[in-house]
Amino acid sequence: MASDTYHWLRDGYGPHTPPPGEETFTDVHIRHLRQAMCSRVKVIQFTKAQESFNGADWELWIHNRSKGVGFRIQAKRESVQGQYGFGYWLDERQAYQCDLLIHDAQATGCIPVYLLYNHESWSVRKDVAASLCGHTAPDHSHHGCSLLSAHHVQEQLFRKALGDSRRISHVQLRRISAPWNQVLCDLKDKSDAPHSRGTLMLKAIQERAEAMERSGWATLQKVDRGKFASPSHACGGTPEASVGSWLGDEPTDEVRESVLRPLPVRVLRLLEANPLRPPEPEIPTRAVVMYDVSDAEQTMNNFVGCVRY
Ligand SMILES: [Zn+2]
Repeated sequence: MASDTYHWLRDGYGPHTPPPGEETFTDVHIRHLRQAMCSRVKVIQFTKAQESFNGADWELWIHNRSKGVGFRIQAKRESVQGQYGFGYWLDERQAYQCDLLIHDAQATGCIPVYLLYNHESWSVRKDVAASLCGHTAPDHSHHGCSLLSAHHVQEQLFRKALGDSRRISHVQLRRISAPWNQVLCDLKDKSDAPHSRGTLMLKAIQERAEAMERSGWATLQKVDRGKFASPSHACGGTPEASVGSWLGDEPTDEVRESVLRPLPVRVLRLLEANPLRPPEPEIPTRAVVMYDVSDAEQTMNNFVGCVRY
């Protein structure tokens, strides 16, 4: 999926213009996840959600039916000049999309992330790479989809709002991001016991996601925010926006063993829900994708780690 995105964007900015938009990529990714994972993936799509009114495109849960980790995802496509819409301001809610993404993630028990669609590759920073799996595509096209903690974006929006810097560094943010296959790698751990329901794999995914969140949160702490709760507030907005981390009050310099978290009741209900008549989402989003790794063994024969050839 990352490789396809990478090549599609390069074609779109080259001989086969124009490239698809973020919504098209999101729809295609959800389609491919359904096809690749078959019955292990449940997708609930909401028709009434207005993207203009909320800070996220979709939500992804990787779980074993009782525990798991969730991501609140905002997609951003790299422009031909290498820029992303990080500074998007929603007039209706008087807030940066980034602040709403973080606020909504807090409210839904998710990790707030940007999903970048890229047409360039880069050297993943050593400190970021240390926590990732090593699966790559020989032509670097696995860089087509990458994940970035929303706190890294929030830090730059804060600096811009407070006058510390004149502009957002898109290149810097892309370089901090990590190819999504290397964060969400679902290679089954050989030492995972047959009846453990993918616990070790889930823990590995959660640890990589936590490392991403910890890095973003630590960067945000270096900003002197003055009296402002969020970059939106510093820009005169009056949003309901909270600045908090999925990690809670855990010290950012202390890395502990991950403890898998129970799935929120809302997600358990969606797992049981009829996809044709889903309950209305409390916090709007276009889709919730739930990937069940608990019986991964039977259906994963076609995969070599997170990269399939
Ligand atoms: Zn992998």
